[in-house]
Amino acid sequence: MEKRDVVIIGSGPAGHTAALYSSRANLKPLVLEGHEPGGQLTTTTDVENFPGFPEGVQGPDLMDKMKKQAERFGTEYWPKNVTKVDLSKRPFSIECEDGSQVSGQTIIISTGASAKYLGLPKEKEFIGRGVSACATCDGFFFKNQIVHVVGGGDTAMEEANFLSRFASKVYLIHRRDTFRASKPMQQRVFDNQKIEILWNTVVEEILTDDQGVTGIKVKNTVTNEITQRETNGFFLGIGHTPNTLFLSDQIKLDQHGFIETTDGPETNIPGVFACGDVQDPFYRQAITAAGSGCMAAMKAEKFLESEGK
Ligand code: NDP
Repeated sequence: MEKRDVVIIGSGPAGHTAALYSSRANLKPLVLEGHEPGGQLTTTTDVENFPGFPEGVQGPDLMDKMKKQAERFGTEYWPKNVTKVDLSKRPFSIECEDGSQVSGQTIIISTGASAKYLGLPKEKEFIGRGVSACATCDGFFFKNQIVHVVGGGDTAMEEANFLSRFASKVYLIHRRDTFRASKPMQQRVFDNQKIEILWNTVVEEILTDDQGVTGIKVKNTVTNEITQRETNGFFLGIGHTPNTLFLSDQIKLDQHGFIETTDGPETNIPGVFACGDVQDPFYRQAITAAGSGCMAAMKAEKFLESEGK
């Protein structure tokens, strides 16, 4: 069995940054990259809000650079997906999909969260060409254009409001006739002249051409009327699923399944740290994920140091 002081599970900005810091601290970390190496940023194109890139950077390039930087200091990456962990005793043990086992004196969990999609045909294919689950990332590309947002929670309210800064018109589509979002967030949407709400409405189809999204077909669930609507952008705001299934309730999660952390990256298990979107339902940005990865690595280092390592 492979034995390490620091094992990092997940390879988005949080995992790469945790790897960079722990490798520079000479801890020879091992990163188990998971099914989607690089995480959510590999499904976006231009990233314009990561500091240090005045011309912007492609999401996959940024992830590749972060990985190379961590490798430069001795991080090892294994293209493996973790299926099981045992956090009941130290060293913690980790099992990968191919049956291989790794043990870690400390574990940093940075498995991220996945945006939920509706499951419509062409939805995933047109990510980056009109379909997006991140208004903060992609809103800027829809200046003076028409966009539609789906959802009725805080994420959808936030996306609609944010998009109204750029778009000429924002339509907010919700499947019911009341929002579940917090009252102040709802009020901000109601007060926003650029946002129009389509209640009791579900999306049936995404319409596209060679360039990208051109429209959507929606159904009113009360009248059953189907209409075609022109749109340049189609944003999902129906929530995120933190990737915590493999933990099978061994660690404290909040009611939405995000890992609960205190004092930055500390979980309820000493020696297990969490960073990035897997513990953050709020900010969900590459830069905040990277920052929390740094914090997790520093905490892991201090933890090992306190044990005389
Ligand atoms: P939520 O689960 O709260 O809301 C998801 C919304 O999407 C619901 O309105 C739901 O409809 C709708 N939805 C889900 N699946 C579908 C589907 N298949 N088709 C159509 N609509 C669908 O997720 P959020 O991401 O909005 O929020 C998650 C947590 O994060 C919450 O606790 C929230 O408060 C918090 N948050 C806080 C923010 C802030 O304070 N600034 C910002 C963002 C999130 P329905 O209502 O009918 O179930």
